[in-house]
Amino acid sequence: MKKAVIVLSGGLDSTTCMSIANNVGYELCPITFCYGQRHQREVEQAKKIAAFYEVKEHRIVDLDFFRQLGGSALTDASIRVPEDGTEKGIPVTYVPARNMIFLSLATAYAEVIGADTIFTGVSSVDYSGYPDCRPEFIRSMNQTINLATKTGVSAHHLTIKTPLMHLTKADTVRLGMKLSAPYQLTTSCYNGGEKACGTCDSCRLRIKGFKEAGLVDPIPYQITVDWTN
Ligand SMILES: [Zn+2]
Repeated sequence: MKKAVIVLSGGLDSTTCMSIANNVGYELCPITFCYGQRHQREVEQAKKIAAFYEVKEHRIVDLDFFRQLGGSALTDASIRVPEDGTEKGIPVTYVPARNMIFLSLATAYAEVIGADTIFTGVSSVDYSGYPDCRPEFIRSMNQTINLATKTGVSAHHLTIKTPLMHLTKADTVRLGMKLSAPYQLTTSCYNGGEKACGTCDSCRLRIKGFKEAGLVDPIPYQITVDWTN
């Protein structure tokens, strides 16, 4: 069985990637990064999602340096997570160079375990405007990892798969539900509470996705979400 490394955050998109890779018949090799994120809770959820898929190994990697670097509302407690959805441009929840670092490490892990495919749940449709979620970045990164690695220069090229890149959040939710993705185990909220806040950008996108898909989100929210209009 061919192995695929899945960058698994514990959120909706990466869990959908797990369900897609599983459906295609890959052996799932999830990797989760602890990068000092405010919503550290997602790592615990990622463990439950990995267990749901009965993976042989779930690699969890500590990246404490993100907190030392700071510069993001997700890694620096002094920067507030915006909750009114009105921020223009690249939001303060952007984590400097996060996906470039994550994909570099996922590549390293792929080499170690002999996988030639890496899944990441980035999307350029319903997203927060992060530059490292765009197809141009993924194309460029795919080229770079093949130039930089032993696997890349051998006959086995590495491929970064982004099955959600051109899907709206509603399309992603529909697809995940069809593939029985365990959304009840996911968390998307940047604030990382017991219940999702319902007001941060990530919650807003998720609520919008379920609403447009006409489906009910299985996770609890702090606020009452109006699903009807
Ligand atoms: Zn939230």
